Amino acid sequence: MRKYRVGLLCIVFSLVCSREIPVMGKKNATRENKEKWEKFYDSVPELKYLSPNVRYEIRVKRIIDSRFDNFSEEKYQALYKQISDDIGYYLGYNVSLKDVGSEDIIHFFRKQRKVFKQPWFQYMIGQHFLHLDRDEDRRRLHKTIEKAVTDTPWEILKLYITDKEIKNKDIPAITEYFYSRFLTKYSAIGNIKGNVKYILRQGEYELTQHYTYWSAALYATSEADLFITNSIIAGADDQMPLYVINRGGITSGITENNLHNKFQGAIVLTLMPFISGDSYFNSARGNIYDSLLLPVISMMAVHEFGHLLHRYDEYYDLPATPQNAPVDLKYQDWYQHIIDGKMYSGPIRTLKKY
Ligand SMILES: [Zn+2]
Repeated sequence: MRKYRVGLLCIVFSLVCSREIPVMGKKNATRENKEKWEKFYDSVPELKYLSPNVRYEIRVKRIIDSRFDNFSEEKYQALYKQISDDIGYYLGYNVSLKDVGSEDIIHFFRKQRKVFKQPWFQYMIGQHFLHLDRDEDRRRLHKTIEKAVTDTPWEILKLYITDKEIKNKDIPAITEYFYSRFLTKYSAIGNIKGNVKYILRQGEYELTQHYTYWSAALYATSEADLFITNSIIAGADDQMPLYVINRGGITSGITENNLHNKFQGAIVLTLMPFISGDSYFNSARGNIYDSLLLPVISMMAVHEFGHLLHRYDEYYDLPATPQNAPVDLKYQDWYQHIIDGKMYSGPIRTLKKY
């Protein structure tokens, strides 16, 4: 009888309370929620100095999208070793990576649904997430791109423009250039095929690929300091910097504030842009030599750990250094410039909060 009642309760519960990842849009970005977001962000403590004279343990968790290629256990272990060595070499911190297990990506995100429903994260996600099947959000995308173009000096813009017709900072022309490129790439990425019948941006999976959802999860998690997913972060939001716009929305990794760990921050690193053999990636990224694959991914981890351990700011315009974001998906060229010894040695800006 007791069992029967529990069963019945579960059925009623599942009918009333969806376990799915909640979808947030502009309607969630109310004035009230905005105030709560501002209060929340103000309440996040400023980042403290992390002494390089201490050995740090980094808890690593793998978040798996089973529809797509993943590393073998052996490869993960080799990657962990490479990352901890490189953090020592490039950043001067002594760290060890400790595996704390793996979880299915949908399961992981559903588990955070209470986090996503907190008013401040409803605002953060709802305000910035662009649902490109909606006209209004396409207009917002256009504005986002126009702003990024306006804010970027011509010397940097021209690094991203392959159209030889554009010879100076003509804002409307350059905005159109990036807008149409963005839509083409965004759609190509969303249609990347997984095992058998799956495409990348499908149903609930779309939310697991979005910058804002990962950002909220990183704020709130107490499970790990570094997440590695074989999935991707590739969506549209109204805060994309130019180098993300140029890649059709792809972000290789995120370092975000964290409310629980000693680093006051947590990282997600994505593998798909590096390991996918899909034709989109093969042409946008090119071939990465087998022997360089782990070092290249590890250099991306060094970039994120530069944010996390040294509190480094984001850079788009330094000469080759791990803190400079790679242009497009040319990870191997970016890596090559860094190890060719063109490392920037001047002072690097730091952050008070991510
Ligand atoms: Zn960065």
